[in-house]
Formats: sequence, C-alpha cells, structure tokens
Amino acid sequence: MRAALIDLHSHSDKRQRGAKVVYNVIIPPEGCMALEKGSFEDWISVGIHPWFINDTNTKAQLAKLKEVAGSANVKLIGECGLDRLRGPSLELQQLVLEEQINIAENARKPLLIHCVRCFNELILIKRRLNPSVPLIVHGFNNNEDILKQLLLHGFYLSFGAALLNNRSNAFKLLNTVPDDRFFLETDDKDIPVKKIYKVAAEIKNIPVYTLKDIIFANCMSLVEGV
Ligand SMILES: [Zn+2]
Repeated sequence: MRAALIDLHSHSDKRQRGAKVVYNVIIPPEGCMALEKGSFEDWISVGIHPWFINDTNTKAQLAKLKEVAGSANVKLIGECGLDRLRGPSLELQQLVLEEQINIAENARKPLLIHCVRCFNELILIKRRLNPSVPLIVHGFNNNEDILKQLLLHGFYLSFGAALLNNRSNAFKLLNTVPDDRFFLETDDKDIPVKKIYKVAAEIKNIPVYTLKDIIFANCMSLVEGV
C-alpha cells in the first residue's frame, strides 16, 4: 500500500480524502452486533470500551470480541482500558481489559488503550501480563511524568485534537516523543486528520510529507496487512 495519512482512531465512518481511517467499533452492552454484514470493508478497531462494560453480560461481550478479532479488516483491538471517572468498578474494568489483552495477544493485534487517571494500574497490568503485542495509549494529553513512565514501559502514544491547543500537554510534549512511538487520530472530533498532521508537523518542524512517512512506517511495523 502507498503511504497515506493514517487516522489511527476515529468514531466517524466518514471517508477522508488522502487518509486511511481506522474506524472504531464498540461492542455494545448487549454483546451482539453484525460485523459480518459488510459495511466494514475498511480498517477497523473493535473492543469493549470501559464505559460500556455490562456487568451482567461481560461474557457475551468478550465472546463476540473473540469471534471477530481474527477478521482481516480488524487491525487493532480496542478501544479498551480503564476509566476512574466513568463505567463499572475498576476491578471489573481491569478484568475485562486483561481478557482483551489476551484476545489481542492470540489474534496478534495491537491494542488501543483508553486510560483516564489509571496509568499506574495500566502499567502494572502490562508488566504482569507482558504481552508481545504493542499497547497504544490513545488521546494522549497528560503530564510529562506520565509520558516518561509510559515510554519507559514500552507503550506507544496517539495524539489527537489536543494538539490544536498550544497550551495543552500534548502540544508541549509531542516533540519529546521518539519518532517511532507515536500516531495521530481524530477520535470523536469532526475534523480531518490532515489538520492534526499539519499542526504536528509544525511542532516537530518537519514537512507534512515527512511526518506522513514516519507515521506510516510506524503503522507498517505495528499493524499486520498494511
Ligand atoms: Zn475514542
């Protein structure tokens, strides 16, 4: 495939000219969905978002994920993770995250991680399970200390619309992240990823086409079938 702008994480299935979008599909609390039905011929990520863990139906949600994880168009498992501010108990969130890490490991696919105020717990889980597949913390906009810890423990990072605010942590810290450890995304923002590439290229003081090549190479090394 020719190098393209990669939008690693989007909740919109809108096409973007010149960009390859990884559309995120959330397994609903009922656990049922029709991934087979053909509307998802593009790249997708699939996972159980911590906000939508159903404490009485977790098994069905995980079974569904297991069923679809091996599909060729599923490039990433997630978003999944831990959220201290929303969702069921952290205990259950951790269990479901660990199961999703196991599923990703079996399918040999990277994980896209949602993490709100649970970075210590996340790092402990990674250290304990020690998966061979990469873990990418998405929507990174945290402080320098957390960034250092995540890099030290081998995490990758994905930066989104926070880069558009020059007072954000994301804006201040992007330049300190090694080139081979980051991605860009639009998440739930209705903007083209091109806009985020433009700002990121300005921050890094490189042309957009160089940034495109860097991130495309990162994608090639992490994601099967690029
Ligand atoms: Zn998201």
